[in-house]
Amino acid sequence: LPAKLQGLPHLPQRSFAQQRIAKRKEERERIQEERRSLPMYAHRDALIKAIKQYQVVIVQSETGSGKTTQIPQYLIEEGFGSVVCTQPRRVAAMSVAARVAYEMGVKLGNEVGYSIRFEDCTSDQTVIKYVTDGMLLREFLSEPDLKAYDVILIDEAHERSMSTDIVMGLIKDISRFRGDDVRVIISSATMDTEKFSSYFDDAPIYSVPGRRYDVDIYYTKTPEPDYVEASCVSVLQIHASQPAGDILVFLTGQEEIEAAEEILRERTRGLGSKLGELIIAPIYATLPSEMQAKIFEPTPEGARKVVLATNIAETSVTIPGIVYVIDPGFCKQKSYNAKTGMESLLVVPVSRAGAKQRAGRAGRTQPGKCFRLYTKWSYMNEMEEDTVPELLRTNLSQVVLLLLSLGIDNLIDFDFIDAPPPEALLRSLEHLYALGALNDKGKLTKLGRRMAELPLEPMMAKALLASEKYKCSEEVTVICSMLSVNNAVFYRPKQKKMMADAARAAFARGGGGDHMTLLRCYAQWRDAGFSTQWCYEHFVQTRTMKRARDVYEQLDALLERVEIDRHSVGTGDKVPILKALTAGFFYNACRLQKNGHYRTLKNPHTVRIHPSSCFANAEIRPRWLIYHELVFTTKEFMRQVFEIEGNWLHEAAPHFHKAEDVLEESKRKMPKVLGKAGGKVR
Ligand code: ADP
Ligand code: MG
Repeated sequence: LPAKLQGLPHLPQRSFAQQRIAKRKEERERIQEERRSLPMYAHRDALIKAIKQYQVVIVQSETGSGKTTQIPQYLIEEGFGSVVCTQPRRVAAMSVAARVAYEMGVKLGNEVGYSIRFEDCTSDQTVIKYVTDGMLLREFLSEPDLKAYDVILIDEAHERSMSTDIVMGLIKDISRFRGDDVRVIISSATMDTEKFSSYFDDAPIYSVPGRRYDVDIYYTKTPEPDYVEASCVSVLQIHASQPAGDILVFLTGQEEIEAAEEILRERTRGLGSKLGELIIAPIYATLPSEMQAKIFEPTPEGARKVVLATNIAETSVTIPGIVYVIDPGFCKQKSYNAKTGMESLLVVPVSRAGAKQRAGRAGRTQPGKCFRLYTKWSYMNEMEEDTVPELLRTNLSQVVLLLLSLGIDNLIDFDFIDAPPPEALLRSLEHLYALGALNDKGKLTKLGRRMAELPLEPMMAKALLASEKYKCSEEVTVICSMLSVNNAVFYRPKQKKMMADAARAAFARGGGGDHMTLLRCYAQWRDAGFSTQWCYEHFVQTRTMKRARDVYEQLDALLERVEIDRHSVGTGDKVPILKALTAGFFYNACRLQKNGHYRTLKNPHTVRIHPSSCFANAEIRPRWLIYHELVFTTKEFMRQVFEIEGNWLHEAAPHFHKAEDVLEESKRKMPKVLGKAGGKVR
């Protein structure tokens, strides 16, 4: 024994183990105590009774009362065999599954698991499964009656996500023919449950009163020009002047959250020890799960936590200890213009219903305060009462493709809870026809069937299937994987901006555009043996790359299922790769204008290159571009673009792009060198 230890009293052999057991027992008791203290618990037996009696039950209760984490556990405790619970957001599915596994004292992925796109964390033993509503939708393809589940819990129904709405329609159908063999619970955090009830043939509604403390609401006197900045100032003011209690800030996405994080870190650095520590915890969709855990960790005495969250914190996850809410009043929303067929991501004002939910997060454990960074006038006059259901403001192509492949041909008669405008349905049928997924009778083609099998939006699915013809399925799979994790691939530390930009520019060398940039980046990382060191040296986020690799592996396995032959052309020959992408994304083509901006070919309007694109500062701009997505900030920006030749469009979709519309026009006079065009975005 080392000299230092020799004098210590001899510890009995089993004491550590015993201590551990005792500690675990204590913890288990504490968890059960916590569970019993939730509002849902008092209604446990009544709820179970109702579920046994009625096939469909609507449950309404305040966020945090135990709908998501408790009801599935009650059901299992009461002898139901298997429960599936849907969530509109992947982060929520992962985080609540982790919580429930912890409460049940089991390993995540065994009895309790989750399944989200490109990530299946379940096993044969799984009895409680949290899934995104989109994943459950896909399950209908392989198992049209969802036989694997005894109870289907459609959670967060008030969110009215597109997939939730469709799932409800399909469930309504199967609940009829599965009869007593299946139970359905629709859960909502808001009061307007009548609609769900009447949709499900007057299903009974169980309202569980929550606890709620008063929340004082404050408005700004004048509108805030920069709400990220204003949020940070408010955080610091609360930290300096208000009693203990954590802060929750609602921002619209990762970029804003990262910006706010940086501002807060900078401004708290020099504050010294007079003020307590400010712990900054972000949460957004692509944040890796180990980092999400931080928002749930109890705040140490004397410190204050500030959670920077997207809409996920509105109702999907409950963060303990929040006393102050800062609500700038915006969220990011997909919006679709059925007239032009354009879909884009917009930052839009939240609805009054959303603002109320946000404020409510401050009053869960004690009276709280909500600081709204907009005027009371704006709340009363400029905000909508309710959020428009996603189904009414989205590109329906993916859903339509899925419904058709489920054999639901007559979409006009589908029992939607709120039917989308017929115009939007028609648009998506046209789109699918142009992609070759439908024939001229509106029936699914073989190509369409294969597209539906891929968990990708139709344009991406088509590109992947077209890659077979161009012998580059390997490269398109990589691009697809990288796009699915994108916006978080490259980073740009403040002190090393130049080096980071140079590293990124090196991937762009060789041309083609942002898709090729992503491909080269992945290929080089792979050639470097997936090295972390390589990521550091090239200013690439290791976490993001690893996720891309996971997605790649999943997609690669899927290729086999839809029988796409694997071929590779390498990264040197970009033409076949870009042609395959064109086969999917020809809808998003645009042409250079004299003013240096671009104009979309179909439903012409002006779009600009996003500042993050490798073409943003290019001296010479390509004549033709195809964009991956549109984002609307100050202007309409194309994020991720690639370069094409006009006649490829005709080759890809002859009936959509007529040959004469996409002539190369090499003789037409166009300025070769253009000044820097495009705007600034935050
Ligand atoms: P609901 O679905 O009704 O909004 P949940 O079932 O999500 O409610 O949450 C119930 C309670 O469980 C919350 O009030 C919170 O106290 C607790 N809880 C949920 N997730 C976590 C977590 N990750 N860490 C700690 N507590 C949690
Ligand atoms: Mg919930």
